[in-house]
Amino acid sequence: MKIIDLHCDTISAIYARRQRLLRNTGHFDLERAVKSGVKIQFFALFVGPNESSIALEKVQRLVELYQNEIENNKNLLYALGSTEDLYSQLENDTIGSILHLEGAEALGKDLDILYSLYESGLRSIGLTWNNGNLLAQGIGEGPEADGLTSWGREVVREMERMGIILDGAHISVKGFFDLLEVYDKPLVVTHANSRALCPHPRNLTDQQLLALGDNGGIVGVTQVSDFVKDNKPSIDDLIDHIVYISDLIGVEHVALGSDFDGADDVVMSGIEEYAGWPELLKRKGFSKAEVKKILYENALRIIEQVLS
Ligand SMILES: [Zn+2]
Repeated sequence: MKIIDLHCDTISAIYARRQRLLRNTGHFDLERAVKSGVKIQFFALFVGPNESSIALEKVQRLVELYQNEIENNKNLLYALGSTEDLYSQLENDTIGSILHLEGAEALGKDLDILYSLYESGLRSIGLTWNNGNLLAQGIGEGPEADGLTSWGREVVREMERMGIILDGAHISVKGFFDLLEVYDKPLVVTHANSRALCPHPRNLTDQQLLALGDNGGIVGVTQVSDFVKDNKPSIDDLIDHIVYISDLIGVEHVALGSDFDGADDVVMSGIEEYAGWPELLKRKGFSKAEVKKILYENALRIIEQVLS
C-alpha cells in the first residue's frame, strides 16, 4: 500500500541525537519507511521560539544535514522539487522528500531568503509554530489572536506564485481563514485532528474543516495522544477522527500527518505501523478506493496542484 505522510520532525530529531536517516531508534527511518510503502514524506525543519534570533542559522544547519542525508541515500531518497520529479520517480522504489519549514522566522523580512531556501529544496511552509512572528499569529496566542500581517500576505502570494505548499497547522484561527482568502491554491493542514472529537486548540473546528473542504484542501491526521483523545488513546481512536472528518467534509479531504519524532506520547510506535492501517480503515467501513485516497491519493492530488 502506498503512503504519503505530511509531517515528521525526524531531521531535527536525528540532528539532536546525532543519528542517521537510514536507520535510527526513532519513529521514522528510511529502511522501515521503504518497507512500509512510503512514497512521499514531508520533513519539517523546526526552530523553537527560544532560538528565533538564530533561526536562519539553525535552519541552514538542518538543511545541510538534510542534503547530506539525500546525498548518502540516493538509492532510497530523492528531493521532490517539481511535478516532473514526481512523474519520473513515482514508480521507482524511492521516497520523495518534501522539505518543510515549520514556523518561518528564518525568512526575516527578506524574500531573497525565501528564494535561496527554495534553491535548497524548500517546498512547503507553515508561517508559524504556536507563537506569533512577523508573518502571523500562532494558535498559542489564544482564540482571539490576530491573523496574517501584510508581510505574511506578501509571502503567501509569493509562495503561491513559486509553487510552494502552504501549511495551515499551528496558525491562529483568524490566520487560518486569512490563508484561505489570500492563497488561491488548496491549503494543507499537515498535522491536526478534529476539535469536535478532541478539544485541543491545535485541532480544527467544524467551521475550519468545512472551509478547508470548500477550498479543496486536506488535513493530515496526527498521532500525538493529546490531539486524539483523553486517557490512553489507540490507533483506532485516531481513525475515528478520519471517520468524523470524512463524514463532515468528504473522504477526499483527509490524509496522514503523523508527526513522527515530534512528540513522545503518541499512538503509533513508528512508521512500520502504517502496514496495519488498510485493514483498520476497512473495518471502520471505508472501501478499498477510499483507503487509497486517505493513505496516498488525496495528498498526491494537492502536491500535483501546488508544485510547478
Ligand atoms: Zn507541529
